[in-house]
Amino acid sequence: PRKFFVGGNFKMNPRSPEENERLINFFNGSVLDPHTEVVIAPPSLFLIPTLENIRKDVKIAAQNCYFQSDGAYTGEISATQLYNSGIEYVILGHSERRRLFHETSEFVAQKTRAALDCDLNVILCVGETLEEREAGRAQNVVESQLQAIVAITKDPEHWSHIVVAYEPVWAIGTGKIATSAQVQETHVGIRRYLATAVSHDVAESTRIIYGGSVNANNCKGLASQPDVDGFLVGGASLKPEFVDIVNVRV
Ligand code: 13P
Repeated sequence: PRKFFVGGNFKMNPRSPEENERLINFFNGSVLDPHTEVVIAPPSLFLIPTLENIRKDVKIAAQNCYFQSDGAYTGEISATQLYNSGIEYVILGHSERRRLFHETSEFVAQKTRAALDCDLNVILCVGETLEEREAGRAQNVVESQLQAIVAITKDPEHWSHIVVAYEPVWAIGTGKIATSAQVQETHVGIRRYLATAVSHDVAESTRIIYGGSVNANNCKGLASQPDVDGFLVGGASLKPEFVDIVNVRV
């Protein structure tokens, strides 16, 4: 059985430590479904205060890392540093980083490898653009993004530390959520790919979550799809409704 997973990607929000603390305090005072793994990803500047103040049943993710463990890489934070600071997860391959910061799948794979090598869990984002979906290439695009990771994770055990987040680019921050059928179909395709490229066991046990305009109203239908194992929430993770998304199955 795959544990339901809800992640909150704060992106470059909120604007101040005080606002971040207000969010943390709200989560700390809420009832969260114990059957859901909850992970929040504040900006790097707020990671440590969040870690220090958040309830113990909520885990923390960084939104990025670099693949070298230390050295002359101005502005970067390494997977090693994150792990040694008590951070348990890192989001890698987000479409905003692929698009705005020109990250290739190979670069994402290098960082994934570095994270896995130091026992940091990875929320690996994949997803096609609208143009790619309309050209009928959604499955191909997602598979090639995954292929880069498969190429560097020779040990199937690595996959127990990866959560795949399917985030169609056209659904992110647009209010235009993918239909349950589109998401279910893509998740099945991802599982089929993992079965062929890695192993049947990995395909069955890997959590595949959906991200893109998820909110408290639209998450129910998606959560009942057999291959949707949770969500990666952007905008709504900054609002009280994040708690309702975490509790979608109670
Ligand atoms: P929104 O929920 O704001 O569409 O963002 C989704 C996302 O990119 C999560 O990583």
